[in-house]
Amino acid sequence: MRVSPAIVVEDLTKRYGDVLAVDRISFTVNEGEVFALLGPNGAGKTTTVEMLECLRTPTSGNAYLKGFSIRDPAGVREIKKLIGVLPQEFNAEDDLTVYENVELAAASKGAENVREVLEKLGLWELRGRLFSKLSGGLKRRVGIAMALVGDPEIVFLDEPTTGLDPEARRETWLYIKQLKREGVTVVLTTHYMEEAERLSDRVAIIVKGRIAAIGEVRRLIEEHGGKTRLFFEGLEERAVRSLRERGYEVEVAPDGRAVVKVRTQSEVAEVISTLRELSVEAYPEIRRAGLEDVFLRVIGSRLTERGELA
Ligand code: ATP
Repeated sequence: MRVSPAIVVEDLTKRYGDVLAVDRISFTVNEGEVFALLGPNGAGKTTTVEMLECLRTPTSGNAYLKGFSIRDPAGVREIKKLIGVLPQEFNAEDDLTVYENVELAAASKGAENVREVLEKLGLWELRGRLFSKLSGGLKRRVGIAMALVGDPEIVFLDEPTTGLDPEARRETWLYIKQLKREGVTVVLTTHYMEEAERLSDRVAIIVKGRIAAIGEVRRLIEEHGGKTRLFFEGLEERAVRSLRERGYEVEVAPDGRAVVKVRTQSEVAEVISTLRELSVEAYPEIRRAGLEDVFLRVIGSRLTERGELA
């Protein structure tokens, strides 16, 4: 299947005085994919997405959304028509109702599908409520509604679930999955690795304004996630010795808890059968590598490379 890029970023750079916030980054986002930007605080994620949203001017480099350049005034006008944005510091008019706020966003885009969007997000019943009277989760949902009016082809969601309770977070995930089903391209910024792992096709990890790792979630986990770990509440000394003799990496904490690191599923089985042969009754908690391991390794290695954790 041929995938065409919805967004092409070329050497995009942003400098604020002495701070090089985004440093010559290049990447593409494919049509219809959910693409997540991850990175520690201050890495340059918001600056990057706000340049793509035409809210901040790049110092150098360029980006194209559906072929329109963010550096060309005519391109910017087209881009504004095809994107929807939920900003990180989202807020709406406190003394307007849900409906009025979404209608205001619709008017600014020349859109008329307020009712459809409110229904889709389960906000129709709440349309008469004042924005100021809504819970944090519902306020964010109004923000998503404001981003979705006018059927944007590309949607930017900057930390859409920060501060939400687990239920509200899961609801937001459903809306994002729905957007993907509808073929919308989604650029997501998040600090929640579980969120990125569940929703994204590809992720980019940004560290100090540069892309430190980029790719499909599964491939990144395979490449950078590290080994599967088996956690034991306690392991007898002879069991630890025996596993180490077989070449396993075993770490024992002062309180007796032990971690055995393995690479494959068959090694998991081998560790357990080795213990059985020794008549050691021990049942491990098995923790497979995930995006969080990738994140910690990638940002860890990047920072130590520059001597900043020392
Ligand atoms: P977070 O995860 O905390 O939202 P981020 O990855 O989105 O962080 P940015 O907000 O893009 O990071 O910030 C990148 C760098 O640029 C930081 O060092 C920040 O202090 C700096 N910065 C951001 N906006 C401005 C600005 N308007 N003026 C000066 N410096 C800025």
